[in-house]
Amino acid sequence: MHEMGIAEGILSSSVSAAHEAGARGISAVYVTIGELTEVSEDALQFAWEAIVPGTLAEGSSLDITMVRASSSCADCGNEWEHDRYSGSQCPACGGWVVMLLAGRELKIDSIDIDEEGDA
Ligand SMILES: [Zn+2]
Repeated sequence: MHEMGIAEGILSSSVSAAHEAGARGISAVYVTIGELTEVSEDALQFAWEAIVPGTLAEGSSLDITMVRASSSCADCGNEWEHDRYSGSQCPACGGWVVMLLAGRELKIDSIDIDEEGDA
């Protein structure tokens, strides 16, 4: 499963960040994911819950923000949101020279950690 590998990547980055911060644990991880990554939010959530037990992130929540794909047109400057099938042609002028602005994100925005001594 695609999402399992992504969840593992998020987990290992989060755990190293928490270690560096001297944290006791992780309470929440916030991620932004572009729709063009073809990641399913539900499957990623499911994968997260499956892999966190026994790690610093045990019991943490994964907060996922999905980002729609958008592109801009080199000919007319139009910017529009689209799904993964319809981004290659400008809907305003019909131009084919388009630049993807968003939709391939796959990043950790922030991590909430439980600090040492913070009960
Ligand atoms: Zn255009």
